[in-house]
Amino acid sequence: MIVVLTGGTGAAKFMQGLQQVAPARELVAIVNTGDDLVWWGLHVSPDVDSITYGLAGLLSSERGWGVERDTFECLARMRAMGAPAWFSLGDRDLALHILRTELLAAGQTLTEVTAHIAKQLAIQSSILPMSDQRVETRVATPAGDLNFQEYFVRERHQVAVTGVRFAGSENARPAPGVLDAIAAADAIIIAPSNPITSIGPILAVPGIRNALQETRATVAAISPIVGGAAVSGPAGDLMRAQGLPVSLAGIAQAYHDFLDVLIADDLDTAEASEVMQSNLHPDLRLHFCNTMMTTPEAKVGLARETLSALGVAAGGAPAPVGVR
Ligand code: GDP
Repeated sequence: MIVVLTGGTGAAKFMQGLQQVAPARELVAIVNTGDDLVWWGLHVSPDVDSITYGLAGLLSSERGWGVERDTFECLARMRAMGAPAWFSLGDRDLALHILRTELLAAGQTLTEVTAHIAKQLAIQSSILPMSDQRVETRVATPAGDLNFQEYFVRERHQVAVTGVRFAGSENARPAPGVLDAIAAADAIIIAPSNPITSIGPILAVPGIRNALQETRATVAAISPIVGGAAVSGPAGDLMRAQGLPVSLAGIAQAYHDFLDVLIADDLDTAEASEVMQSNLHPDLRLHFCNTMMTTPEAKVGLARETLSALGVAAGGAPAPVGVR
């Protein structure tokens, strides 16, 4: 079993590659829910949605989120009627949020609803939300506290950040299956995801960080930082706000207490000595390859490189749906 800790956009691309080289039934994604929000009365779980659409072959490759070839008629009508319209939900995408909201209202847990939707979309891998309890990523700015989507989408992450916290994490429990998956895994991968607001909330759920420290599985992380900057999004700003250098060393530092292998981009070979000289992780292995998932082949290539660095044989049997 291969367990992957994931956010949304970077992680969904990685999962698309991974499902081409590993048996779908042996993949478990543990997904961040700190970005979840209620929008137009619907429970939206952006990272769970990206992983779900990615594994189902429905993800928009152009946008990196939502459904391929979607339309936005409902959004336009909502805007015309004076409703808030800064968060985009496509017309086809709406179906998933309506179904999730209905099943949650009927008393199902987020884990149950996520599994039900995955089954309807013929996904054979397991998608586990990190927790069934609400954990809300809050971004502190000079103008006040914002939830993650207000910061990321409404403000387009153009405001200064003074800190990040995960409200409710102290009372959250890992979702059913999460700790067992980490304990029983043959290999664990931290996807190329934002270490602060995608992987950070998962690690903030009591018990998960400890399980990663104690698992017998080798743990690898793929750096979302390439050439001293995030490939996309605000990971650099958020790492700086949390006192981490925006570099490979910063990623190694974020995961120092459980990381065995750091998968880094060929562009960053010059940083190897800086990472290895740090006393924090004397046994850390560095593996350099192309980590830029710009084509379907590159997604598969990164998945293969990651499995080989973990000592797991990559298979050739592709999943039933194609990588886009
Ligand atoms: P979010 O929840 O939508 O923020 O998605 P993630 O946290 O999964 O992904 C965002 C992170 O992925 C950003 O920090 C990017 O730097 C990183 N990322 C996106 N595409 C790539 C890629 O092709 N290669 C690498 N190495 N990182 C990437």
